[in-house]
Amino acid sequence: MCIDRITFIVAMEAEARPLIRKLSLVEDEFFGVGLPMRGWTGEYEGISLCLVTNGKDRATTHDLIGTEAATLSTQLALERYRPQMVINAGTAGGFMQKGARIGDVYLSHREVVYHDHRVDIPGWEAHSEGHYPVWDTGQLQSLHLKYGVVSTGSSLDMPEGDEKRIHRLGGELKEMEAAAVAWVSSLHAVPFFCVKAVTDLVDSGKPTHEEFLQNLKLATDHLSEACLEIIQFFAQNPNIRLK
Ligand code: SAH
Repeated sequence: MCIDRITFIVAMEAEARPLIRKLSLVEDEFFGVGLPMRGWTGEYEGISLCLVTNGKDRATTHDLIGTEAATLSTQLALERYRPQMVINAGTAGGFMQKGARIGDVYLSHREVVYHDHRVDIPGWEAHSEGHYPVWDTGQLQSLHLKYGVVSTGSSLDMPEGDEKRIHRLGGELKEMEAAAVAWVSSLHAVPFFCVKAVTDLVDSGKPTHEEFLQNLKLATDHLSEACLEIIQFFAQNPNIRLK
C-alpha cells in the first residue's frame, strides 16, 4: 500500500530542528491551540509530512520530555493529521555491552516496553510493562540501520532495578516516550515504530546527562538523516505492507 501521510512525534525541540530544516516544514499555527505542543507540516514526493513536538513547560521553559506529554502530543497529532503511520523519532541511551556506539541510529524491533512500571499483582505485570507491538521495520532493512527493542521509563538515570528489568525485557535502547506514543497509536490502530539515535551509553560509567549534552548535536544530525532516508524509502516503495 502507498503511504501518503506520515507523522513524526518528537519530544525535544533540539531533536526536531534538524529534521524541520531538512524537510522545510512550516509551523501549523492551528495545532494544539492553547497547549504547549507544536506541529509542523510539509510534503515530500507526494507524502504529506507532519511533525509534532511536546513543546516547552511554561514555568521552566524546558522541553516537555516524558510519557505524559508524549501521550497528549500523539493524541492531538492523530486527531488533526490522521496519519497512516506514526514514527517516534528521538534520542536514547544505548548499551556498550550490546554493541551500541554514540551516534548509532536504531529502528525499533518487535515491541516497545516500560522498564519502570511495576505492579506486582499476579496477571498485572505484563500489562504494566506495555509490550506494545511495533510495525515490521524489517521492511526497511536496506537502510542499514541497527535494530533494537526500545524500553521506556520516566527517568534519565538507571537504578539497578531498572537495569535488571531492561535486560529481562531484552531492551537495547533506553528512553522516555516511545511506549506512550505506541499505546496511543495502538488505540487508533495506526502502525507505529521508533527511530532513535544514541546520545549516551548507559553502561559506560560516564554521567548520562554529560554524555547526552556532548553528543546531542551528532545524534540529532544522524537522526534527521535516517528520517529522511525512511521518508525516501516510503516514497520509492509504494508496495510497503502497513499491517
Ligand atoms: N532536558 C535535559 C535532558 C533530557 S534527556 C537536558 O537537555 O539536559 C532525556 C530525553 O532524551 C528524553 O526525551 C529521552 O527520550 C531521551 N534520552 C536520551 N538518552 C536517554 C537515557 N539514557 N535515558 C532516558 N532517556 C534518554
